Amino acid sequence: MSGPAMDDVTMGDPRPRIKRIGVLTSGGDAPGMNAAIRATVRIALYNGLKVSGIRRGYQGLIEADIDNMELADVGDIINRGGTKLLTARSEEFMTEAGQKRALDVLRMFEIDALVVIGGDGSYKGAKRLWEMGFPTIGIPGTIDNDLAYTDLTLGFDTAVSTVVSAINNLRDTSSSHGRVSIVEVMGRHCGDIALFAGLAGGVEDILIPERKFDLDDVARKILQGRRRGKLHSIVLVAEGVGKSYEIAERLEALIHQEVRVTVLGYLQRGGTPSVTDRILGAQFGQRAVELLLENKFGRVVGIRDNKIIDQDLEAALAEPKRFDQAKYDLVELLSL
Ligand code: ATP
Repeated sequence: MSGPAMDDVTMGDPRPRIKRIGVLTSGGDAPGMNAAIRATVRIALYNGLKVSGIRRGYQGLIEADIDNMELADVGDIINRGGTKLLTARSEEFMTEAGQKRALDVLRMFEIDALVVIGGDGSYKGAKRLWEMGFPTIGIPGTIDNDLAYTDLTLGFDTAVSTVVSAINNLRDTSSSHGRVSIVEVMGRHCGDIALFAGLAGGVEDILIPERKFDLDDVARKILQGRRRGKLHSIVLVAEGVGKSYEIAERLEALIHQEVRVTVLGYLQRGGTPSVTDRILGAQFGQRAVELLLENKFGRVVGIRDNKIIDQDLEAALAEPKRFDQAKYDLVELLSL
């Protein structure tokens, strides 16, 4: 790890040296972030640490939008989507001046370590702070599921359920009218939402950034299905693949039938967090605080093979995302 040369610290010094932690959420909001905030705050307080809540991510940190947090401050949020601490994207924090300002604020508020809940961009920010000598821990909070080191990120499970319930609704109306629908879901670089929702929703095809697609194949499948008496067809398109309306137009020409487009957009971010996301949030928050108490920094928490894990932050960011070919093949197989 290219963080500070503090072997005794990274190896886990048993002497606690953290007295006050800061917690922030950054990047896109994700259901389950509140559960992670709640667990982080409460477990830190139970262990005698003080907690500062930083609002609006790194931008709020630069602007010192910070308040002390007590047990009651995280009451009644476990069931809420979004994030109690609010979130932001910060251009200013991308600059060295912004990062130095953030460090000044952390020192000013006597914060000894920072828990960052967010996606890969937020992790890159945490990595910068750690490289500058400030102890950080990351909790994966993004609906995209695009962090390779963890099987799941907070918010992904809820987002997939939201997409599946939208597919269910579309199925009813599509079969009544014998329609072909394209449903655009989030995923600029990672097609996991389309992949999982496609499998759970029983769609005809999924178009995702990780795999090239041939619209002739999609059209052939729809036409074969129609001949077999299929009342409707649903194709999921991850946003990173291209413009859904253009894909729909090209598909219409091939199948000689109207294709309706539904863009789910920000609907996918909201909603009450699923059981999985709430439990993950609790477990991630717990492990994050445990690491801080053991003086282990520059690390991120996650879940692998149903076990809560932690890993070096830089290594986690460097790990290439593996594509789940087996699930992709299964979607193809089951839609024939
Ligand atoms: P999501 O996956 O939901 O989009 P994210 O955490 O990846 O979440 P980003 O907008 O990429 O969202 O990043 C959040 C913030 O993290 C940015 O606005 C910026 O302040 C900070 N950040 C991103 N990349 C870097 C970087 N290379 N160096 C420093 N800070 C960064």
